[in-house]
Amino acid sequence: MKKADKKVIVAIITESLKKKPKGGARKKLREFFLENIGVVLRAEQLREVSGNISEWARRVRELRDEEGYKILSHNDRSQLKPGEYLLETAKPEPAFTREISKETRAFVLDRNGFTCQMCGAVAGESHPYDASRKTRLHLGHIIDKSQGGTDEASNLRAICSVCNEGASNITLTRPDFLKLMTQIRRATSPDQIEALKWLTTKFPKQAKLFVK
Ligand SMILES: [Zn+2]
Repeated sequence: MKKADKKVIVAIITESLKKKPKGGARKKLREFFLENIGVVLRAEQLREVSGNISEWARRVRELRDEEGYKILSHNDRSQLKPGEYLLETAKPEPAFTREISKETRAFVLDRNGFTCQMCGAVAGESHPYDASRKTRLHLGHIIDKSQGGTDEASNLRAICSVCNEGASNITLTRPDFLKLMTQIRRATSPDQIEALKWLTTKFPKQAKLFVK
């Protein structure tokens, strides 16, 4: 092989390495999000930044799920349209949600009936306070870690993204019993039946005791 040919090959290889740096897409996306905190970014922009790779959306999910960046989509914020993304803060979420094992996560979600323990929203269904959002469940600590709470299943509960963000004030505090009963008594029969269905699913054993 001539020296000149070798040079050409080296140049080609260098060029191809430049185009496809290993793991580069995620890094580029991370940098782009961090340069645009609080800015609504569109899918087309993200695809372009990623180097036009088809898995750009997967890389965005990895930033969110593996690295803990609070990248919001229309499932988290009603102001966002499908295909729009927004990084809320530069600081990734505390790693605790990622340290909790898949088994614990599955156990807690199952125990909580895949239902947000603050507002009652069901995973995958439209959110009761915002029908445009699909309910996505997270695990929350019952006693905060800063107050000595642990990552044990007994200290964890399912919380939807709406309640997790504290986006809705109604969901922040549990309704007191009298107010709750007043609301239920004033509700329409179909809604009362829906509530009954939900309660009997949540408390099957107890429900049997009341049915004569
Ligand atoms: Zn909720």
